[in-house]
Amino acid sequence: MNIQIAIDGPSGAGKSTVAKALAKKLGIIYVDTGALYRTVGYYVWQHETDPGDAQAVEKLLPGIHLEIRYENGVQEVYLNGEATGNRIRTPEMSMYASAVSAIPAVRTFLLDTQREIARKNGVVMDGRDIGTVILPDANVKIFLTASDTCRAERRFLELREKGIQTTMEEVLSDMRRRDRNDSTRTIAPAVAAADATVVDSTGMSVEECVAAIAAIVAAKTGISCDA
Ligand code: C5P
Repeated sequence: MNIQIAIDGPSGAGKSTVAKALAKKLGIIYVDTGALYRTVGYYVWQHETDPGDAQAVEKLLPGIHLEIRYENGVQEVYLNGEATGNRIRTPEMSMYASAVSAIPAVRTFLLDTQREIARKNGVVMDGRDIGTVILPDANVKIFLTASDTCRAERRFLELREKGIQTTMEEVLSDMRRRDRNDSTRTIAPAVAAADATVVDSTGMSVEECVAAIAAIVAAKTGISCDA
C-alpha cells in the first residue's frame, strides 16, 4: 500500500504549508482537498445558486467534472477542463466551500476522487475528515490546530500575498464562522480522529512545525524525513 499521511484541522492552522513541505521531503504528492470543495462552491456561485440550498446544489453536481493535475509539483484543480487557479481562493469562495461541504451529496460526490488519488500514489492529504472518513487506515494521522487569532493572522498574510484585499477583523470573523460550520455540521465534522496525534502550532515557526510532524511520521512509520 502507498503511504498515507492525513493532516486535518481548522483553517489557517498551517496544514497546507506543513503538508507541502512534508510531501516534498518524502517524495510523495500533496493533496489539498479543500480545493475540491472550493471548486464545487465556485461552480455553485457561477450558477447563482444558494450554497445552503442542498436540493439545488445536488441538482448541479452532474454538471461538474473535476480533475486534479500536478504542474511542476503544484496541484491545480480543473473544473470542466478549465484551471480554477486563484479564483477559488477568495474569502467569498471560502464561505461557499464551507456551505456546500455540509451537504451530504457533495461529500459523497468528492469521496472517490480523494480515495482514488491515495490508491494510486503515496500522499500527504490535508482537509477536515481525511483521518476520520476518507482514509481511515492512514499510516499517520495528524490533527493540526492553533489559536484562532494566530490562524487568522496567518490567513490574512497569505491572502495579502495573493493580492486579495481584506482586513484582519474580517478574516477572524469569517474564520470563526467557518470553524463553527465545519466543526458542528452533522456529516463529517472537522474533529480529530480517535487515533490522531494533536499538534498545536500556536507560536511555532513553519520549520518547527514541520520538524514536529516529521518526528511523528518517523516514529509511526520508521521513515525519516531528514533527506
Ligand atoms: O482547507 P480549505 O480552507 O481550503 O477548505 C475550504 C472549506 O472546505 C472548509 O472550510 C471546509 O468547510 C471544507 N472542507 C471540508 N472537508 C475537507 C476539506 C475542506 O469540509 N476535507
